Amino acid sequence: MARVGVLALQGDFAEHLQVLKDLEVEGVEVRLPQDLEKVDALIIPGGESTTICRLMDLYHVGEPLKARVHAGMPVWGTCAGMIVLAGALTEDRPKPLGLVNIVVTRNAFGRQTDSFEEDLHIPALGDEPFRAVFIRAPSIRRVGEGVEVMASLPNGTPVAARQGHILVTAFHPELTNDTRLHAYFLQWLNKG
Ligand code: GLN
Repeated sequence: MARVGVLALQGDFAEHLQVLKDLEVEGVEVRLPQDLEKVDALIIPGGESTTICRLMDLYHVGEPLKARVHAGMPVWGTCAGMIVLAGALTEDRPKPLGLVNIVVTRNAFGRQTDSFEEDLHIPALGDEPFRAVFIRAPSIRRVGEGVEVMASLPNGTPVAARQGHILVTAFHPELTNDTRLHAYFLQWLNKG
């Protein structure tokens, strides 16, 4: 049976593990390079991207993670996790892994709209809207070659995208009861 890792250095990894449990999939907390060897896919949760990146450096997990993704391991970053995976940021910190061809701005929605929810149309999930929770969310500022936008806000800002086996969402699907995005990501495992 496939094992799905959740990067458990900081942030809401417990919520992702709970969704995996609800979907009857084995979730594994990943902190060290040797944990990565045990998993077939990885989710990077929301939290503080600067802290997550600092701890990834400290535990030497960034380079092995990149190597696994280059070798085809499916990876999904939610919110701070999207920042971690980005090709580049419009800010100086943190230094992202550069795995997906997008430019991201942190805390893109300003103080007035620190947190908000939006019913998104995500064609890959069917007709029923997906209630997306945004918390001090980043936005995708530029989408490069090879990246497919999967959902956008009504103003056109992309908030979910895919590049091959890499998925990024600016919002937090692990904080609602809608498991469709997790199920969508898990399908990539069955295809090998
Ligand atoms: N604002 C956070 C950051 O820059 C991300 C917020 C989140 O993951 N909910 O890392």
